[in-house]
Parts: sequence; structure tokens; C-alpha cells
Amino acid sequence: MKKLIRKIFFIFILVSFFRLLAVSTCVSQHGFECGFIDSSGSFSSSIFDNQFTGLTKPIRTDLSGDTSSPSSAVFPVIIVFVQFLGDNDDWQWPAGQPPLYLDSIIAETKSYNSDWWDAYDENTEQFSDYWLEVSRGKFHVTGKAFSVVLDKNANGYASDHEINIEIWRKLHEEIVDWRPYDRWRDTLINGQMKFYYEQDGYVDMIYKVHKNNDGPLWDERGYAHLTQYRWDFSYVLVDTANQINIGNGFRGKGSGVTVSFSSRKFHNMLALQHEHGHCFYADGHITYGKVSYGPGGDGWSSHFFPVKTKNG
Ligand SMILES: [Zn+2]
Repeated sequence: MKKLIRKIFFIFILVSFFRLLAVSTCVSQHGFECGFIDSSGSFSSSIFDNQFTGLTKPIRTDLSGDTSSPSSAVFPVIIVFVQFLGDNDDWQWPAGQPPLYLDSIIAETKSYNSDWWDAYDENTEQFSDYWLEVSRGKFHVTGKAFSVVLDKNANGYASDHEINIEIWRKLHEEIVDWRPYDRWRDTLINGQMKFYYEQDGYVDMIYKVHKNNDGPLWDERGYAHLTQYRWDFSYVLVDTANQINIGNGFRGKGSGVTVSFSSRKFHNMLALQHEHGHCFYADGHITYGKVSYGPGGDGWSSHFFPVKTKNG
């Protein structure tokens, strides 16, 4: 009976998905552009390796290197919603205020419910719910969302570096100890990327959401790094007590992804899933899956992610 209910639910999801795809197409036509312009795709050869566990970030939390990680293991994400002073009002994200959905997008603590389909609340813990479901129970993502109102309007900043530094400073007023957000260490061993559940002095993942694309922000709607340059190997020390940094680029200890085109929950979630997807297995765009060109909406029910990442 339970299986039947699941089947019915799955069909419901499929139908919802096609409706969602229609909306995604609108977004694409509206010009969703990701920093990885090249749509031909350019893969690390490690993607075809049997032991593939992620490109720049781990795709599962149950393994630390080649052994099991502790049962408490999670992949932590800081979500920060950023607006310039004087940005426009939006009913989902009022001017000068956090988005209305700030506290309903990610679980703060890990669920130990072994039924991964129901482990996280799909309405109030959506990222945690989404990643655990597409990984079929292997990727626990938890974290917290914050709101930052910048001190100046968009034209008051000279660079995205300057904006980021103000964001990290304001985040530091709320996050004093950054250790909960540095859980993973990546190491290249014999050409194979391995992820260990150990601290490496770099924040694991920040979803940086700008309310709009303005000022010195790169004129792209999303990219899998925190400044304009994917090869930006610079970093900023944010936790002096624990020596934890935020890295700006894609590879080389990058600490996050950026989207900057919408106030809306739905669009931001799709785009963030897409950008995070680049960190799993692709630094270019492909035809199917979470990193297809556009916001990646079709990855919602694609089998590409679980199959390619060996989570199938
Ligand atoms: Zn992309």
C-alpha cells in the first residue's frame, strides 16, 4: 500500500515537474545565463572513474575518504540573501527585510529518519529535502539562512570583492564560530579527488543570493564561485580564532556559488541547485541533468545525477 501511495505521489511529482519545466523554459527564454558559458561541457576524466565522489565538493556525506563517515556527518551550507541599500521592494522579499521564505529553505539539524523520502520537510526544509531525495538518501545537507542589507547602494561599490568582504563582516556578527561550516577536506590522490570529513580551514559552501544584478556584480545570473573569476584563488580569513577562510573561486578551495537575478524563492532555488551541481560533476554545460543549460530545472526528475554520481 505504501508503495502504491509512493507511485501515485511520484506521478503527481512528474506532473508537477512538467508544469515546473514550463516555468523554467520561461526563465531560460528570459535569458538565464550561468558563468560557464561554454555549453559543450568540459569534464574532469575522474567523472568516469568508479570511485567518483565529487568534482570540487562531495556528492555524498556517508563516506569520508574510502571509509564511512560518522553518523552525524552533514554537508553544511550557509545561505545568504544580499540586497543593496535602496533595492526595490518585492512581495516575497521586501525592501530592507529578509525574504519571507528565509527560514523555510533548509534544515538546521540532520534528520536521522532512515526513510529518506520523508526525512526532511519539503515545505520548510527544501534544500535538505531535495538533496537527500536526488541522492537517494546519501547526501545530507543542513545549514542556516541569513539576510544582509549592504551599507551602500549598488553604485557605491567598486568590485564584487568589496561587496563580499562587507557580506562576510556582517555574517560574522551572527556566525562567530565558523567551524560548523567547515566539515570537509578535499585531497587529490593519484588523480582521484577524495573528500574527508575533516576540517581544512575553508568554509564548505555558501549560497550567495543577490536580490538583483547591479553595480559591479558580474553580468551573469549565476556562477559556481563567489567572485567574477572562476580561477580566483584568493581567500578571506573570516574566523581568526579557528583559522577558517572563505575561498572565492571554483576550484582551489572555493567556498560557494552566486546567483543574482531574482527575489523569488522558486527561481533562486532552481538556480542554486544548478550552480551547486557544477561542483558535483561538471564545469561546463551538458544536455541533461542538473547542469543543463538554463537554470537546471529539468534535473528535477532526471536520472542523470544519481546515475552519474553513482548514487543510483
Ligand atoms: Zn551553469
